[in-house]
Amino acid sequence: MVKKLLLQSNRRAVLDFIRNHEDVTISEIARSICISIPTAKKILEEFIIKNIVREVGKGHSTSEGGKKPLLYRMNDEYGYVIALHVGPDFIYAIALDVRMRIIDSYHEQLTESHTDHQIVTKLVHIASHFLASAWAEERILLNVVIALPGIADSSRGTSIYSPHYPQWQEDFPFVVEFTNRFNRRIPVYIDCVNRLQAVGEAVLGKGQHIDNFIIVDAMEEGVGAGIISDGIVTHGFNHLAGEIGHNIVDPNGPRCICGGIGCFEAMVSVKHIQHMMKQGRTTHPDSKLYKQKSDSGTHLGNLFSCAKEGDPFAIMLMDTLAEWFARGLNSIVLAIDPKLIIIQGIFVDAGVRFLKTVEKKLSELSLARVKRDLTIVYSDFSIERGALGAGCFGMIRFFEDEGIYE
Ligand SMILES: [Zn+2]
Repeated sequence: MVKKLLLQSNRRAVLDFIRNHEDVTISEIARSICISIPTAKKILEEFIIKNIVREVGKGHSTSEGGKKPLLYRMNDEYGYVIALHVGPDFIYAIALDVRMRIIDSYHEQLTESHTDHQIVTKLVHIASHFLASAWAEERILLNVVIALPGIADSSRGTSIYSPHYPQWQEDFPFVVEFTNRFNRRIPVYIDCVNRLQAVGEAVLGKGQHIDNFIIVDAMEEGVGAGIISDGIVTHGFNHLAGEIGHNIVDPNGPRCICGGIGCFEAMVSVKHIQHMMKQGRTTHPDSKLYKQKSDSGTHLGNLFSCAKEGDPFAIMLMDTLAEWFARGLNSIVLAIDPKLIIIQGIFVDAGVRFLKTVEKKLSELSLARVKRDLTIVYSDFSIERGALGAGCFGMIRFFEDEGIYE
């Protein structure tokens, strides 16, 4: 299940060390993760038998003139994972190697609505295209991971509901349909993209070595969270854990696609922000926001840059957004008590002041007298974040199943 993401075993530590370095010696491994040389040697031997690590020659002798040590390296050509992210209006796919580096990628903008069967056909086509690539000839395909929008049941491999694809059947069996049409018999996994994005941050991003954190992904329309609680990816009984976009933050706000009023995601949606910016033309005509070209007055990037330049109206709008973020995040902060919140998506360029304002407002909303250590940061990932997370999940899953990570 890739449950205990941060479980630190000696084997995992050894593999991660080798994965993050080029050529290493046994004594370097032993020293860096504080294990004995015989233990490091035993683990390495296991990895060599599995062909995941290779002996690649001899290094330089020590300054005392000792024997030249043997060098080891990850077998980069061992295998790869195909990760397919179905976004609200795009598909982003990658192939990831055992060092969790992107070997190949594919991006397609979806200009029209697609049924569940049409999406599966596209995914099979993309995966088959990767399989036929020159780089795939010497490598083994380990598994395929599909990241879905909306609510997915990873245990049954189905999509329960996706607001961006209302025509999808309820409980559509993505895993079975994909497996039936794909010409390789390998494991296929699915999950809600936000959970996989959290896995990606835990493995390659800002969530490394942190047991309690959440990612919050804000898209043009839609906010979701991926939760890592005590090192475990949280799913919830109804697969709804992380659906914080539907926290009601303003009962007088606009209607949300879920049918609720004033949901977090409706308040911070691009549509609503543009509406507020349009209204400001009358109330704050002197704002820098409206000094740009005629149509850029409602662009999100324009709002961020005007706020960074100190425009009072832009700052006021950003503070209002920060207030909604704080209210939208408050319940999950109280439920999970994260050390870190990683913001992904359309707000990553909103600037440091925005983050600090959300942090401050959050600390004032509840338990204001309790001092807490909670930091909010922006993710370094962009559109690849869903596929990257899915790829990391697939690779961890493979390492676990092979007993390489225990
Ligand atoms: Zn809603």
